[in-house]
Amino acid sequence: MIVHNMLEHRFVRNIPEELEPGVLYVSMEYGMVSHSCACGCGEEVTTPLTPTDWHLVYDGEAVTLNPSVGNWNLACRSHYVIRRGHVIEAGPWSEREVAAERARDRASKARYYGTADLPVEIAEQQEAVPAPAVGWFERLKRWLVG
Ligand SMILES: [Zn+2]
Repeated sequence: MIVHNMLEHRFVRNIPEELEPGVLYVSMEYGMVSHSCACGCGEEVTTPLTPTDWHLVYDGEAVTLNPSVGNWNLACRSHYVIRRGHVIEAGPWSEREVAAERARDRASKARYYGTADLPVEIAEQQEAVPAPAVGWFERLKRWLVG
């Protein structure tokens, strides 16, 4: 369930400690976008801007974020797309799809950065993500081969 159907963008230098619901905070300085989960659960959702994470489009009026925001690590597990400030609910993903997306993300980062020299923040971030229960390596292999 999406409570906040619109996110008003706010360009800031530092992301504030307290996030106002319904606001998408954008820090170009730190390449970071944060908002309070659009489902209304109050959890902070952080979407770093990097070549392998999220991309931001600002058309002078509204902000679009790609790809979708999937909060698998939150209790609400909400999944939505932010298009020109509108929050569009996306379908829930199965465990299998979540694992496949994590594998895709790892493979994409490994390709872009090379596995040996991940930037510290990204290496930490990857450690913070719990490993999928079974078979991600198999799926990664299949993904790489197929
Ligand atoms: Zn939520």
